[in-house]
Formats: sequence, structure tokens, C-alpha cells
Amino acid sequence: MTSPIVRFAPSPTGRIHVGNVRTALINWLFAKKHGGKFLLRIDDTDRERSTQDYEDGIKTDLNWLGLEWDDTFNQSDRFEKYDAAVEKLKADGLLYACYETPDELERKRKIALSRGRPPVYDRAGLALTDDEKASLEAEGRTPHWRFKLSGERVEWTDLVRGPQSIDSASVSDPILVRGDGSYLYTLPSVVDDIEYNITHVVRGEDHVTNSGAQIEIFKALGGSAPDMAHTPLLIGADGQGLSKRLGSLSIHELSKDGVEPMAIASLLAKIGTSDNVEIRSQLSELSEEFSFDKIGRAPARFDETELMKLNANLLLDMPEDEAVSRLKANPKLSDLSDPTFFWDTIKGNISVFSDVDRWAGILFGEIETPDLAEDKDYLEQALASLPAGDYSEETWSTWTSELKVSTGRKGRGLFMPLRKALTGEERGPEMNRVLVLLGEARARARLQAAVA
Ligand code: GLU
Repeated sequence: MTSPIVRFAPSPTGRIHVGNVRTALINWLFAKKHGGKFLLRIDDTDRERSTQDYEDGIKTDLNWLGLEWDDTFNQSDRFEKYDAAVEKLKADGLLYACYETPDELERKRKIALSRGRPPVYDRAGLALTDDEKASLEAEGRTPHWRFKLSGERVEWTDLVRGPQSIDSASVSDPILVRGDGSYLYTLPSVVDDIEYNITHVVRGEDHVTNSGAQIEIFKALGGSAPDMAHTPLLIGADGQGLSKRLGSLSIHELSKDGVEPMAIASLLAKIGTSDNVEIRSQLSELSEEFSFDKIGRAPARFDETELMKLNANLLLDMPEDEAVSRLKANPKLSDLSDPTFFWDTIKGNISVFSDVDRWAGILFGEIETPDLAEDKDYLEQALASLPAGDYSEETWSTWTSELKVSTGRKGRGLFMPLRKALTGEERGPEMNRVLVLLGEARARARLQAAVA
């Protein structure tokens, strides 16, 4: 394959969420796998809804994920190009003026439906004479402009969906320019894809019908259409669409919640594919493994519980030096005497990195002593036999073996009161390591508090 050139084309009308990031990621992985280029196109022709803040935010989020682009440009800088394309299409008789108001169009739609016909635009605009147009404009109407579809079948082999065939006679001629002169996304996208030599258009399957029209526009503008890949949309763990929850699934929110970029990328690259969902530590591994052939036709299931599990797995596998440098960067933990030992102790009990603060609080700060009245006698005995001096990883077993013999307790009855008294928790890291981190003085003080 010649090196592909792909683009991710968000509109800066909000932050990006897991749905559109999946599209960005698939484009990026495909480009990198084949030594190609990934472009970032900012679809900001809608000047009212687009903001610089959102554009900056999108760039921050993509950078945070590691999805760097080879080039970026804004559609708002390119109106001259779109205007030139409009002139060409008009000159070729492929773009025609229409004057219906939204209400009139709605009425036409209803009439067609009530007569059992598909609600396809009737091309009334195409039949207007110059005089009729002039008198409509004299009424104060301004035209919107529709592209004249060929009426033939548009066919392509989609890299995800396989052979596609759209009967262009069964869809309305698309509006390319609104009455106020602003552009819908359809035409600028094609103009840019031609000029930037885009080889593959990779996007969500909500664009399949657009592709039928856009392929005809590519041809009308003298280009040939790129290859197309339309990926199934995401659904939630409950099988419902994600649209209502996308706000909380923005990359910005997930990063604030402490989710690691590679947990997000690993999940989004694998759901809905024939590969297993597993954590990868580098985007390059995901791109090696990427193939359109692996993407299924069914919606891809995005489950936040799975995301958090991947995040926990990523932390478990995190190289020790990275973990230690992150711990040292935390002002509350910068004076840990043995950060490696601390990390190895707690890493199996965190789901986001910031949970280290919670364990540091439990191990080195003040804890709330739970009610252990039932085990008071036992804990008094435990306190009396608590070893003195420096603790090692063997101290716990020496101490508890002795207690086992002296009290006849075993299993949960032996360990749980000690875990609760020493950490205030019912669950946590292995006690032999916890005891080392507590040290004699803190362990003694906590047992004393528990029996007081
Ligand atoms: N701005 C369009 C969107 O976000 C781009 C679609 C495309 O990739 O062509 O839906």
C-alpha cells in the first residue's frame, strides 16, 4: 500500500469524548501502521458555535493521548476554496438554488409520506425560471443551494462494512450552502480531502449516507473519492447509545478522574474488534496490531468498569522507575524512605494513580479506629506479643504464628482483627508489607487505640 494520508475532523463546538476519540485513534493507528500521515482538520465553518477554547481543548486532549498530527488546518481559513468549488458546481449545473422555507419543506415531506412516497426533495428549485427566482427574491427570500445527485447508484467497498450501494435517487439532493451563505460540512470536507490528498476517509457509520453524496461531489470536482471506512458507533454497557452521557465521557473529564491515556487508547482500539481487550503500554503496539479487517459490524461496547480495570492493570504493570518518579513528584510523598517498597505494596490496591494518596494516608497518617470491642481480648494479647525493633517482611508471620498457637485462632479470625486495627480497613495490601511500612511505633499505637 502507498502511504495513507488520513484526517480527523472534529468541530470545535465541544470537548472530544470517547466516541470521536475512537475515530481519531483508528485514523492514527492506521496511518502509523502503514507509515502514513495523520492530519487534524478543524471543522469550524460554523462561526457561531465554534470557539478557540474548544479548538485548544481538542488539541490538548489529543496531545495528552499521544495522538500527534503531522499537519493541522482550519476550515475557516479556506472559504475562498469552498467558494471556488461552489462556482464550479454552479457553472456545471450541479448546484441549484432553492427557496423553500423549513416549514414548506416539512409540509412537502408530510405530503410525500402520506402518499406513501419516500420524503425525497422534489427538485422544485431546479424547475424555476429566472423570472420566478427573481420574484421569490423580491419577496425577501434568499436561496439555499442543493447539489444535484446523479440518480444513479453510488457504490464503494467500505473497508469495514464491505460492499456498499446507495441509490442516489432515494435521497434528497443535499443542501451544500445555507440561505445565509454558510456552509454545511458536506462540500468543504470534499474540497479539503481532494486538496490534502486524503487517501482514506475513516469515520463513524452515521456518515454512510453522506458518503453517497460526497462520492458524487468528489467526481464533480474532478477528483476521485478516497477509500472509505465507516466504523460502528459506541454503545454503553447497558446496550444504549452513549449520546446522553458523552459529557462525562469527555477525555478532559476522564483525565481529571485519573484515567491513564493508554487505558483509554487500549480500550477504544480493541472494543468491537476480534482482538481481546487488554492493556498495551504504547500506541505503537496498538498500531502494529491494527487492521480494518478486525473491526466487526456490531456496535462497540464501551464499559467504564472495563476501562477502570484496564487502568488498574496498567498501574500494576507500570515500570518501577516511572512509578517512583511519579511518587517523588507528589509533594506529600516526596520524602518516602523506600518509594519502591511502598509502590510494590500498594499497586495492586489502586485503580487510579491518585489512590496512592489514600494509601499513604492509611499507612503514614491518622486513621479512624474501627469498633473492635468483640476482639478486645485478642487484640490485647496481640499487643503484648507485638515484636520490638526493626521490622522485616518476616515479622508478620513470626508474630501471627505465635498468636495462632497462643490463642488457637486461625484464618480470618486471626488476621482480620489485626488488619482492621492496624489499617482501619477490611481490605488492602499484604499485611507482611503493611507491617513493615507501619513500623513498630505506629503499629503499637494503633493496637493501643483499638483496645482502649
Ligand atoms: N466534522 C465532521 C464530524 O465531526 C467530520 C466528518 C468527517 O470525518 O468527514 O462529523
